[in-house]
Amino acid sequence: MSELERLRHSCAHVMATAILRLWPDAQFAYGPPVENGFYYDLECSHRITPEDFPKIEEEMRKEIRANHPFERIEVTREQALRDAQSGRLGALSERPGQPSKFKLDLLGQIPEGEPITYYRNGDFVDLCAGPHVLRTGNIGAFKLTSVAAAYYKGDEKGPQLQRIYGTAFKTKQELDAYFAMLEEAKQRDHRKLGAELGLYVMDPEYVGSGLPLWLPAGAVLCEELEKLAKETEFQAGYLRVKTPHLAREKMYRTSGHLPYYAESMFPPMELREDRPAAAGAPGAAAEADRYYLKAMNCPHHHRIFAAQPRSYRDLPLRLAEYGTCYRYEQSGELFGLMRVRSLNMNDAHIYCTEEQFAEEFNAVNQMYLKYFKIFGIERYVMRFSTHAPEGLGQKYVNEPELWKKTEDMVRRVLQDSGINYVEVPNEAAFYGPKIDVQVWSVIGREFTLATNQVDFAVPARFGLVYRDRDNTEKTPLCIHRAPLGTHERFIGFLIEHYAGNFPLWLAPEQVRVLTLGDDEPLVHYARQLVAELRAHFVRATGDFSANKLNGKIQDAERAKVHTMFVLGPRDLAAGQVSVRVHGRGHLGARPKAEAIADLLAAIRERRP
Ligand SMILES: [Zn+2]
Ligand SMILES: [Zn+2]
Repeated sequence: MSELERLRHSCAHVMATAILRLWPDAQFAYGPPVENGFYYDLECSHRITPEDFPKIEEEMRKEIRANHPFERIEVTREQALRDAQSGRLGALSERPGQPSKFKLDLLGQIPEGEPITYYRNGDFVDLCAGPHVLRTGNIGAFKLTSVAAAYYKGDEKGPQLQRIYGTAFKTKQELDAYFAMLEEAKQRDHRKLGAELGLYVMDPEYVGSGLPLWLPAGAVLCEELEKLAKETEFQAGYLRVKTPHLAREKMYRTSGHLPYYAESMFPPMELREDRPAAAGAPGAAAEADRYYLKAMNCPHHHRIFAAQPRSYRDLPLRLAEYGTCYRYEQSGELFGLMRVRSLNMNDAHIYCTEEQFAEEFNAVNQMYLKYFKIFGIERYVMRFSTHAPEGLGQKYVNEPELWKKTEDMVRRVLQDSGINYVEVPNEAAFYGPKIDVQVWSVIGREFTLATNQVDFAVPARFGLVYRDRDNTEKTPLCIHRAPLGTHERFIGFLIEHYAGNFPLWLAPEQVRVLTLGDDEPLVHYARQLVAELRAHFVRATGDFSANKLNGKIQDAERAKVHTMFVLGPRDLAAGQVSVRVHGRGHLGARPKAEAIADLLAAIRERRP
């Protein structure tokens, strides 16, 4: 448990203390720390609502001011059973006739021989393994946040409990910053801005849930990201391929997606096709054939590797595709662009020899860093998940040597390149170590962007081989990588990150030319300017109406147009434009050619 988790879990005990002061019949079940806070599940004759929070918080403050120590008490199982029977656990005192029923159940789950411990603060005694902060006064700042219904142990047949959520921080400043961040995140919510800026829509009735339709402005974002990826990958020696959106059942049996991943795939389509009769055989009967929408691009890429004889001279072979995948997420788990059923993935598979691995893997990491710089992502971490030897043969492919060798290589590359990473044992994928990339948006919210995997099992399952220098056949290693993740998730992230104020190169509408009035010579000048910009592939539009200039500027600001070229009679006479940038205001007048040249350079360099 981290320091902050310890603080938050201790705060859950304080909350329980307070609730018992107000409603002494409360029965407590589980109270763990969770991401961003804590909760405690309880059963109580009073239905707690957010209106009760100030009252509970007031009692909590009293307990914190009392600065009781969190005292650890080790007891025998007999003692614990007696205390649970008398209602003393998760309570301020004994409660005759009201045994601590959930604690009694939890006690039964503690294996024989394991120590049984209580934690006590003031009158409150709870069955708990800890750890806790030293005293209630160590809880710096807290707030109760919400209440929800929850089943005991998540079992729908079990008793229904009330789950009270809260959060706690070491200081008031940190708590305030957290809630300010949440408020800001609400303003930047990708679903809200996605609708306001016309980026995408969902059409569950006709298209289906979790299948976003990209509107023209959103399609611009997709295409700019693809352009970035294609240029970057071209320079890094990748080759582009294109593959269909579905494949036969055999493909996914071979890859192992079936049966293990079947729940995440759309159900199969059955096709009946007449097969040509083999020579001499009776006419083939129509036979059912199953096709699946692809949930990953790897198998198709593996078949491209297998399509031609490969030699060591062909390696490393880097096959790239913005591939569309389909995953059957449960409808309850769909969430805006963050959890969808169709995804456009910045995918590539690098087939290489063991000797080439470190260099290839390092190049992938460098590509991430390059992207982070372009998008102004300052905080990130790479979570490097490794295997555990005891899981070999079950949770992990049984290749102890290869595991050790690849993990050592990955670790060395991460260390040598000074990349910010943490190592997480026993969380690797079945067929090799993986790296999850987490990034934080400018307002400090965390997103899991993408996963890189090293794969030393699947190429063998597909029988992929190359002919080595010594003329023997060998199986290549495969690196799966997707630095820009999927369009859906990455654009969802970017919308929040930029609050919809995209940098010039990415902005759906890069320039709007505005006229002061609608006099013909001025409008003519403006039209020519728009045409000139568009000839340079700048996404430029014009607003030449007779409306007031201020109103036109406001419209453009509201639409988050990046740059405005404002034209008045003086600009026409001098062959200049007045430049205004969204969020930065007027930047002054400049000769037309100079303003255009500057604009093009900013786009070309993808300036932030
Ligand atoms: Zn505890
Ligand atoms: Zn893959």
